[in-house]
Amino acid sequence: MTALSQVLRKVDADEVVELTRALVRIPSVYRPGDPEATEARVADFVEAWLRREGFQVEIQPVVPGRPNVIGSLGEKRPGQKSLLLEGHTDVVTEGDPAEWSHPPFGADLVDGRIYGRGTADMKSGLAAAMVAAAAFKRAGVTLRGKLVVGALVDEEDGMIGVRHLCDTAVGRELDAAIICEPEENELCLEQRGVVWARFRVRGKMAHGAMPEAGINPIACLGRLLAAAPGLERRLRKVCERSRYLRPPTVTPTIIQGPPPRVGVPQSNVIPAVAETTFDSDAAVGQPGIKVEWEPVNAFRLATRVDRSEALVEAMARGVKQAARRAPRYGGVPGSTDGTILRMQLGIPIVTCGPGDRLIPHQVDEFVAADQVVEAARIYVASALNYLEAE
Ligand SMILES: [Zn+2]
Repeated sequence: MTALSQVLRKVDADEVVELTRALVRIPSVYRPGDPEATEARVADFVEAWLRREGFQVEIQPVVPGRPNVIGSLGEKRPGQKSLLLEGHTDVVTEGDPAEWSHPPFGADLVDGRIYGRGTADMKSGLAAAMVAAAAFKRAGVTLRGKLVVGALVDEEDGMIGVRHLCDTAVGRELDAAIICEPEENELCLEQRGVVWARFRVRGKMAHGAMPEAGINPIACLGRLLAAAPGLERRLRKVCERSRYLRPPTVTPTIIQGPPPRVGVPQSNVIPAVAETTFDSDAAVGQPGIKVEWEPVNAFRLATRVDRSEALVEAMARGVKQAARRAPRYGGVPGSTDGTILRMQLGIPIVTCGPGDRLIPHQVDEFVAADQVVEAARIYVASALNYLEAE
């Protein structure tokens, strides 16, 4: 029997599904100010599971109550490589549970689909990565080099988990990473970048009935919003076209006048300041008005890897072997922890994981069970092709 079939036999479909459900049942929405609402409990679960399976486990306290859990198999000796299977443990808010047809943290399994917050984004991908890596240990197949499973915190916000990882020994020795985010098991070679820009419009405070006494920043903000489509068209002209990704977009996401730290909104008061945040530069002049902007996040650049990259070749072959179909290539419509790995470490990343690409963050989020199992098999074959057996 080949090493691949030995390891694949240790990937149990029911186990992958049940592990996904167990992870989904542990809520891990990060709510600032609530010490109970962090990734801690799911991180504990992942840690215990990895220890039971015989991984070397490292807990990285990124901030109090929010640990990265890193499980490794093997060592990276001179001339060898280290491959990361990456997942995040946080999930976005479930919103109003009454809008869900299945309880958001119930992990109901109905007609081959697992329902709940984080099923697709991305506890299923994490479960698939855990089982795939454990299967090597169970099959007694030793890899040349190091296979790492990373369950990181805070992907949905500032990505502090992956930034922390990049500054640690296990992070610095990585040679490549598979990002297990929901991409319908396509091999995503490109990811979009993002800038969150906050525009602050300063006017002059006055009574709402005497607008001539003030300068209204809200009217200026309206013109700024109206200028967004023009900005988008300009960006599209200067940006290179991608085979896999949509052209750039400029999306207003937050409007506040006055912003909470400046004052309380009142119907009869023209505020001194109004702000808007764009998911992407514009200035609209008016006497007495000052427009400033600042980036809210650290810039996330777009990423790309070539098909000739060793990791991509290993995965393309892996899909054929493990899923018995030709690989499908694609692009990620947003950024992921992989963006930070690519920017900070310069390593190749491929995003590939189970779940419909549009379903994350929606009500009635789900993942197809068979896609989760397929992902685990693809990770096994890809890791074996990339690192090779001893
Ligand atoms: Zn995600």
